[in-house]
Amino acid sequence: MDDNPYEILLEEVPFGPVVARNRFFQVPHCNGMGYRDVRAHAEMRAVKAEGGWAVVCTEQAEVHYTSEISPFIEVRLWDDADIPALALITERVHDHGALAGIELAYNGMNGPNLTSRTAPMGPAHLPIAGFTDDPVQARAMTLRDIANLRRWHRQAVRRSLNAGFDLVYVYGGHALGAVHHFLSPRYNQRTDAYGGSVQNRMRLLRELLLDTVEEADGAAAVGCRITVEELIGDSGISRDDIEAVLGELGEIPDLWDFVMGSWEDDSVTSRFGEEGGQEQYVAGLKALTSKPVVGVGRFTSPDTMARMVRQGVIDFIGAARPSIADPFLPVKVAEGRAEEIRECIGCNICVSGDFTMSPIRCTQNPSMGEEWRRGWHPEVYRPRHADESVLVVGGGPAGLEAAMSLGKRGYPVVLVEESRRLGGRVADEARLPGLSAWIRVLDYRHAQLERLEQVDFYLESPMTADEALASASEYGFAHIAVATGSTWRRDGVGRWHTQPPPLGDLPVLSPDDLMAGKRPNEKKVVVFDDDHYYMGGVLAEMLAGEGFEVELVTPGAMVSSWTVNTMEQRRITARLLDVGVALHCSTAVVGTHGEGVRTACAYTGKEGMIACDAAVFVTARLPEDSLAQELLTRRQEWPGAGLKSVAAIGDALAPGTIAAAVWAGRRYAEEIEAPTDDADATPFQRELTAID
Ligand code: ADP
Ligand code: SF4
Repeated sequence: MDDNPYEILLEEVPFGPVVARNRFFQVPHCNGMGYRDVRAHAEMRAVKAEGGWAVVCTEQAEVHYTSEISPFIEVRLWDDADIPALALITERVHDHGALAGIELAYNGMNGPNLTSRTAPMGPAHLPIAGFTDDPVQARAMTLRDIANLRRWHRQAVRRSLNAGFDLVYVYGGHALGAVHHFLSPRYNQRTDAYGGSVQNRMRLLRELLLDTVEEADGAAAVGCRITVEELIGDSGISRDDIEAVLGELGEIPDLWDFVMGSWEDDSVTSRFGEEGGQEQYVAGLKALTSKPVVGVGRFTSPDTMARMVRQGVIDFIGAARPSIADPFLPVKVAEGRAEEIRECIGCNICVSGDFTMSPIRCTQNPSMGEEWRRGWHPEVYRPRHADESVLVVGGGPAGLEAAMSLGKRGYPVVLVEESRRLGGRVADEARLPGLSAWIRVLDYRHAQLERLEQVDFYLESPMTADEALASASEYGFAHIAVATGSTWRRDGVGRWHTQPPPLGDLPVLSPDDLMAGKRPNEKKVVVFDDDHYYMGGVLAEMLAGEGFEVELVTPGAMVSSWTVNTMEQRRITARLLDVGVALHCSTAVVGTHGEGVRTACAYTGKEGMIACDAAVFVTARLPEDSLAQELLTRRQEWPGAGLKSVAAIGDALAPGTIAAAVWAGRRYAEEIEAPTDDADATPFQRELTAID
C-alpha cells in the first residue's frame, strides 16, 4: 500500500550502467578535509550512504598537478598514488549500498598552482579567477595543451574506475574549471576552433564527455555538472547557450547536474535566497535531454522535493547542505519520519571549512567532520555509562544540544531556562532580517526533547547556585552543565580596543539591547562593527529598514569581513548599500562624546568624527559565567549534594558561533563520564604522514 506521501522520492532511477536506489543524490561538496584527512573524509561520506543517499559524491577532484587549487583542500587524482585514498571512500560508500561518484575537475585558471608552481592554463591570458587574488596569471592554452588536458582527464577517468567509482563527472559548473571557462564568453575570447560561437565554446566539453564515455566504457556512469545561467547577462553563459549545449550534447552523458552561476550564486545562504531558488533557471531544461537530471536548492522540505519531481523539473534531489545538516534525511523520509529531519538553516558555516582549510563543521549537525576522529554519529549515541542524572541550566543552542544528546544517551536530564522560551540567542537572532531559518536550531531540538521521556524542561526557572546545589541534593543530579550564554559588551572592548576607549555622553546600545527591542531615541546611528561576522551588518540593515540613518564603521577592510568564508560578504555589502547605509571601512570608533563618535583611520590613525545621536557597539561578548564560577568555588559542598561535576559550556565558557555552542553541547554529552578538557593526550584521532 502506498501510504508514504513521498513514495515518488523513493523510486529507483537507472542511469547509464547503474541504478540509484532512490532519488536522493548527495552532490559534490567541499569539506576542508579532501586529500589531507583521508579517513575522516571517507567516514563522513560513509555516514551519508548509511543515511540512505542513493549517490554519494566527492567534492571536485583535481585531475592533474597543473590543476590544483591550493591552499584549498580537495581530493586529488594526480597519479596512481592518489587511488588508495579515494578507494577508501568508494569502499565505505559501497558498504552502505550507495553509488559513489567523483567530480573530475581541471581547475585551470581557477587555481594559482601554489604547490606545483606551474603556470595555470585557461582559454585566455588572464589573471586567475579564483577566491584569492594571487598575483598569478593563467596562460592561454595551445592546441597541444588541450590535447594534454584531454589525455590527463582520460587518465583520471581510468584512475576513478580503479578506485571503484560508479559515476564519473565532467565538471563544468560554478566557474571552477576549464570547461566552464571555455564555455563562458566572459573568459573565452579565442579565435580558434575553441572560441567564438557556442558550438566552438562547447567543443572542449564535447571532447571531454566523449573521452570520458569512451574511457568509462560502461564500467561507470558519466555525469556532467554544468552552470545553466551565469547571471551576468550577455557576457556570460546564457540560457540560449545552455539550450544549445543540451541540444547538441544532451544525450552523451548518462546524467546532467544543473547548477547556476558561481559557487557563491549556487550555495546562497538563507539570508539571501529561498529554498529551491534554482528552480526558475533549471525549469524546462529536462525536456531537452532524455537523461536524468539532478538539481539542487537547499531542499529540506519533502513536499517541495516531491513537487519538483512530479512537475518534471528534476529527477534527482541534489543536496549538499541538506545532506550535511542531516545525513539521514532519506532514511527519515523513507520511514515516514520527515518531521524529524534536522533541517539545514542555510548559514554556510559548512562552506567556511573549505575557505579556512579546516575540517567541515555544521551548525545543525555537530557530528559533521567528527565521524572518524571522535566517533560521533548523527543519529546513533553511545548508551550512558552511569546511572546518573544531569541538570542543564540554560536553553540556548548549547543547553538544548547537551540535554538532547544526553537524553539520547539515556541519561535522565532536567533543563531549566530562566526566560519564557527556549532557544536562547537563536530565538533572538532568528528575528533579525533574513535569519528566520535559524530558528530551526531550536525547532529540531525542541521537537526531539518532547520525544525524550527522560528529559524534562522548565521555563521561567532562573537558577542560582544555592538552588542548583539544593536541587542536586534533592533530585540527585550528579552533573550540572551551565549553558547560560553570554552578553554583548557596551564598553567598546573587542579586537580593536583591548581596553575600554574613552566614552562620553552618547547613548550606546548593544546587540542585546536592539534584540530586546530597544531603539535609539533619534534618527542618526553609528554601528561600530569590530566583530566582523554577521551581527554588525545585519543590525545596520535592520535599523536602516526601520528608517534610521545608519553609518557603519569597521576597522575591517570590508564590512562583515569574515562572511567571505560563508560566501555572503558581497551580498551583505550590496544590501547595505541598497538600504542606504553609509560604509566606513578601515576605520575604528575610538571614543564618543555628546555629539557623535570619534574615529581613526585603521592605517594612519588620522582622526575624524561622525555626528550621530547614538552608537551601537558590536565588538565582543562576555560569558554569563557567574553561576558556573560560584558553583566551582563551592566545590566543598558538592559531595554533600551528591554532585560530581560542574562545567560551563558554549557561550558561557567562551562566546562563539552558534555552531560552536551546539558542538559544545554535543561534546559535553559525549564526554560526560570522562571530560577531556584537562587531558594531556589529543582527544581525537588524526591523520599523520607516515615516515618510513
Ligand atoms: P549558548 O549559545 O551557549 O547556548 P545562549 O545565550 O543562546 O547560549 O543561551 C543561554 C540561555 O541560558 C538563555 O536562554 C538564557 O535565558 C538562559 N540562562 C542564563 N542564565 C540562566 C540561569 N541562571 N538559569 C536559567 N537559565 C539561564
Ligand atoms: Fe546548513 Fe549551516 Fe549546516 Fe551548512 S552549516 S549544512 S548551511 S546548517
